[in-house]
Amino acid sequence: MNESNRTLFAGVDIGGTTTQVVLCDDELTVLDRAGTTTPAASGGQAMINAALGVLAQLLRRTPGRLAGAGVGAAGVVDSAAGRILVASDSFRGWSGFPVTATVEDALGVPAFLDNDVNAFLRGEVSSGAVRGEPDVLGIALGTGVGGALWAGGRLFAGPHGAAGEIGHIPGFGDLACTCGGRGHLETLASGRSIGARYTDRTGRRLTAREVADAAAHGDEDALAVYRDAGAGLARAVVMTAGVVDITTVVIGGGVSRAWHLLEPAIRARLTEEPPVSGHPVRLVRARLGADAVAVGAATRARLETTPGVRAEPTPEGRRGPSGPERPHRVGIGS
Ligand SMILES: [Zn+2]
Repeated sequence: MNESNRTLFAGVDIGGTTTQVVLCDDELTVLDRAGTTTPAASGGQAMINAALGVLAQLLRRTPGRLAGAGVGAAGVVDSAAGRILVASDSFRGWSGFPVTATVEDALGVPAFLDNDVNAFLRGEVSSGAVRGEPDVLGIALGTGVGGALWAGGRLFAGPHGAAGEIGHIPGFGDLACTCGGRGHLETLASGRSIGARYTDRTGRRLTAREVADAAAHGDEDALAVYRDAGAGLARAVVMTAGVVDITTVVIGGGVSRAWHLLEPAIRARLTEEPPVSGHPVRLVRARLGADAVAVGAATRARLETTPGVRAEPTPEGRRGPSGPERPHRVGIGS
């Protein structure tokens, strides 16, 4: 195909500190990527302008025709209306901001908005570690703990967009959570909490990555902190498996870099407390890394703008033939 006729989809991940933009082809292969600092204190328009500036660079060096753009953003979003509902304190002028309308005005193509954890899971299912799997819990371990649910081959966001949010349900001890609740998984397994739990034990202040380094050197307190995080994650997996019968959990985010510590801890507890189905839950590490949210956002744009596109890839990664009978053609995750 002539490259200038190639169909392109943009994916944008607006995080608290960085904004990542990818440009994908029709098969959702990442052709180019670039990032910039998120001007979170300068307001919604400035954040969108920063993302569009990066996208313009990518479009200048990648020939093709842009067909749609997806945006993944932290916080509570109204995916159907394309606006941010609730954003964290680090963002100014972001709550209520009309993301998709602003992007559509600037680019002249359809735009779509997803919560970033939902986009992360969409990316991993479409072209990452759990490609084509129908029933998956996605967990993102970053500053906080985010969750998303893929059920029956589609994103299940729930009527309030909160389905799969296993980071903020009680039953994981009695520590105060950032959300105002107590005993949430986030108090054990977020990057911030891993540092805090180590401080509780030792009085020393380390980041989650430094705690992982200490664990690698045999620091018993550091090992215990990761063991507790893994046990909490396993419990969240078992709870989710008991409610919606997931077959697989995919874990990403910065904290998952300590996979060598988390994986054995999660597996050990899952062996002790197996799902009621009697079928073990497959545990996999996310594969798309820093691209996951942006690729997931581009996936949504492709899904919504391509007539007859199969909703999600098959387990083998093949795409079915085009046709109007394809289910879930539009409205996934909205
Ligand atoms: Zn909480």
